[in-house]
Amino acid sequence: MSAPLPAPPATLNRLSLYLRCLRERLADGRPTISSKELADQLHISSAQIRKDLAHFGAFGIRGVGYEIAPLADRVHRLLGLDHKHRLVIVGMGNLGRALAAYRGFNDESFEVVAGIDVDPTKIGKCLGRVVVHHVDDLETTVRETAADIGVLTVPAAAAGDCYQALVDAGIRALLNFAPVQLPDRPEVKIKNVDLRIQLEETSFLLQRSVQVAKETD
Ligand code: NAD
Repeated sequence: MSAPLPAPPATLNRLSLYLRCLRERLADGRPTISSKELADQLHISSAQIRKDLAHFGAFGIRGVGYEIAPLADRVHRLLGLDHKHRLVIVGMGNLGRALAAYRGFNDESFEVVAGIDVDPTKIGKCLGRVVVHHVDDLETTVRETAADIGVLTVPAAAAGDCYQALVDAGIRALLNFAPVQLPDRPEVKIKNVDLRIQLEETSFLLQRSVQVAKETD
């Protein structure tokens, strides 16, 4: 059975925002930041920030705010970024290649270590900085590269089989870009990313604001 989360998912999402902001302030050479400054920068209320951070311990100093370096270090460790994660990308098409080359997937916390595909014209080639291996060699590739996160960028029809192959190879965390709901399995953590859904939400918000403007005219 998986352990309960230490905080709601929305709080966990905001931790990444806090870390980004703290790192920027750290680069400016600032030792402390108030929750109001953090709040103004992120457009989140300071009460929300205090509530989020309280899930993980007592951080603020009354009248001073937060000491940036220790807080950034704590959030970095909370997010599991204190050791490098090794990513294997399954589906080295347009999206897979772009992600393999993306700096956000290749820094001190993440590294794309291999690509997987079925297309014979891609096997053995270096695409987006990684060598592409055949899907039949997925298990060996995962073992030899010590990959611990799978990134799924295959067409929807292939996603289920590739998911199974990744789980069989020992992968326990997956970032899924394929437009399918993969079955939940207790031993695997799945995060779905769907820009289409974000776009539909944007369309909804646009439509609503146009409607409200018409009604108030
Ligand atoms: P693409 O056709 O360029 O790439 C797909 C790649 O997967 C190809 O290289 C193909 O050979 C490979 N492939 C097919 N079957 C495979 C299998 N069984 N094993 C290994 N590799 C296999 O497509 P794309 O534009 O890169 O999109 C890839 C996926 O990502 C699609 O499912 C698409 O809908 C999805 N997508 C999601 C988002 C998002 O926001 N979540 C955005 C763009 C695309």
